[in-house]
Amino acid sequence: MKFKIVSRGDERSNKLKATMKQYLIDFDLVYAKEDPDLVISVGGDGTFLEAFHRYAHRLESTAFIGVHTGHLGFYADWVPDEVEKLIIEIAKTPFQTVEYPLLEVIIRAKTGGTEDRYLALNEAMIKTADGSSVVFDVEIKGEHFETFRGDGICISTPSGSTAYNKALGGAILHPSLEAIQITENASINNRIFRTIGSPLILPKHHTCFLKPMVDSSFLIQIDHFTKNYQNVKSIQCRVAQERVRFARFKQFPFWNRVRDSFVAEEDR
Ligand code: NAD
Repeated sequence: MKFKIVSRGDERSNKLKATMKQYLIDFDLVYAKEDPDLVISVGGDGTFLEAFHRYAHRLESTAFIGVHTGHLGFYADWVPDEVEKLIIEIAKTPFQTVEYPLLEVIIRAKTGGTEDRYLALNEAMIKTADGSSVVFDVEIKGEHFETFRGDGICISTPSGSTAYNKALGGAILHPSLEAIQITENASINNRIFRTIGSPLILPKHHTCFLKPMVDSSFLIQIDHFTKNYQNVKSIQCRVAQERVRFARFKQFPFWNRVRDSFVAEEDR
């Protein structure tokens, strides 16, 4: 089996990466940058997101796992003390995987017929580049739904529902659900302008279009990176055909992870 380790780049993560790499090579696994079967991220959730995007072009053949060298992450859920156990489990290949849905975002330009396609593991957050309000026509399943005015719109995956989406008042979804969630960031609501005000959860095959009404320049944040777009005709969001595969070497039920991350210890 071929593996690759992506480190956050700090001293602790680099050291752990070097130890894990040597152990796995000693177990006759092959270190492969281009076509790994397993990608191990060492750092935090941000490192995991980076590792995911580095190999997002070959999701069918790649599984991911995260070790954290800081605080417990949603993706980086193995602690450095468990690494020897993890290495032995990996060496026993084949391993089990679970697959979760992703978000597909397609940004189309007003002129030139160009489009950019992205996959997001957590979310796409759309804001204006100059801090002014975004004004979008929001279309769901081909029908006009509302005109949104406000700081921005977040479209998240179920896996990302515990990230930015949660901070915006979105619901936490179990990551196995094939859906995307739309949450508002500070919508303008008064006698003239009105939005739904609640998070919306769309099933697979329900596509959402955001069509700029005033400005067409945006900052589009996909997971951990941000792109600046001008001349945008539409932003299309739906559940992607592709899925992410997590390598599973231990039980760590999602709701336990939610509890351990967000519920105060005295309330558990
Ligand atoms: P970062 O390192 O500042 O990460 C922000 C926090 O988000 C970290 O504590 C990380 O553990 C957590 N996180 C990431 N994915 C998560 C998930 N699926 N569930 C629960 N927590 C999660 O920034 P980064 O490394 O660039 O990570 C980018 C992510 O940060 C974005 O995808 C976004 O979800 C999140 N973010 C959150 C907020 C917010 O909550 N207000 C603001 C900006 C970005």
